Amino acid sequence: MPDKNLPKELLRSLKSRLPQMVATLRRFVTAESPSLEKAAADRCCGIIAEAWGKQGARVERITQKHRGDLLRITHASGKSRASGQLLVLGHYDTVYSNGTIARMPYRVRGGKAYGPGTFDMKAGIVQALFALQALQQAETPLRKRLVFLWTSDEEIGSEASRKFFEAEARRSDAVFVLEPSFGPRGLLKTARKGVGEAELIVHGRASHAGLAPQEGINAIHELARQLTRIEKWSDFRRGVTVNAGIIEGGTRANVIPERARAVLDLRALRVSDMRSLEERLHELRPLQSGARLEITGGFDRPPLESKMSAALFERARVLAKQMNLALGECTVGGGSDGNFTAALGIPTLDGLGAVGDGAHSTHEHVLTNTMPARAALLATLLLTV
Ligand SMILES: [Zn+2]
Repeated sequence: MPDKNLPKELLRSLKSRLPQMVATLRRFVTAESPSLEKAAADRCCGIIAEAWGKQGARVERITQKHRGDLLRITHASGKSRASGQLLVLGHYDTVYSNGTIARMPYRVRGGKAYGPGTFDMKAGIVQALFALQALQQAETPLRKRLVFLWTSDEEIGSEASRKFFEAEARRSDAVFVLEPSFGPRGLLKTARKGVGEAELIVHGRASHAGLAPQEGINAIHELARQLTRIEKWSDFRRGVTVNAGIIEGGTRANVIPERARAVLDLRALRVSDMRSLEERLHELRPLQSGARLEITGGFDRPPLESKMSAALFERARVLAKQMNLALGECTVGGGSDGNFTAALGIPTLDGLGAVGDGAHSTHEHVLTNTMPARAALLATLLLTV
């Protein structure tokens, strides 16, 4: 562990950089970057690449066919031989389509920076950039090589980027995810539920509801009975939930419906619960004779179990204390790319990014005054883990 005063020194130097941090945030946010619009996302990618390039880091642009390009930035301290690697992971894509900025402009009011993607999670990328700058200025040799990976499709499931960040995570001793923190106190996300989606289709037999009701097999009745069964699988205390979010079926009131369908949202905090939920789902059998069930889907993101982040969080808490900052943690129901890296068995600390509120909404914002401390926390973690 380097000099005990270093965290405080890093914090002091980063506090003086706040105006530059906010100016950089403006540049990143005004370059809109919807996950599904490659041309716009690539423009934003270029602007982020330029900012990191100016920092003297090695910037590599990984071309993507359908999504925005990925950015892989490596930094190793010249003086010492780095052994091992730390991965800083995040995404620059946002959920807002191109042009949103016209009705949701970037603006700073009362210490809050508003705009599409400020909080989720462009401020996180800014904080990481300034953390690296502070480390370079502090001239303390880094023990490990640093890799920063900024992806472009997290908001739509990370299908294209997953193999890249998983490969990088496998080479790393720890992963720091710069997704937004939680609440005004900036809680880190030390556990995240696994998330999935499943579809249950019931096939019955159509018939005239008045003339030949006995010949029909009512797919809606069957689906309703299955759903009352499935509903009981939720266990809030254990963090297991099944939510029937969409149902449909039938054609007319006087027709016995031959088909009905439900789409289920699945969540679990533990890998074991995720597995048993998937098993139960696929073991469902019809309750009405003659009905047939078709079940597809399952978990897309495994849970980030708290045991994968506990040691890193403890380290972060101690470092924050040295800067006179209190650091808390929480469990959240939504997933991130940290779920994937933790599932590989790599220690992962998530929610290290911005402090603010309103992700994916018109009032999305970042508390600008918190940015230097967050950057300092990341910098000290990169020095000491
Ligand atoms: Zn995000």
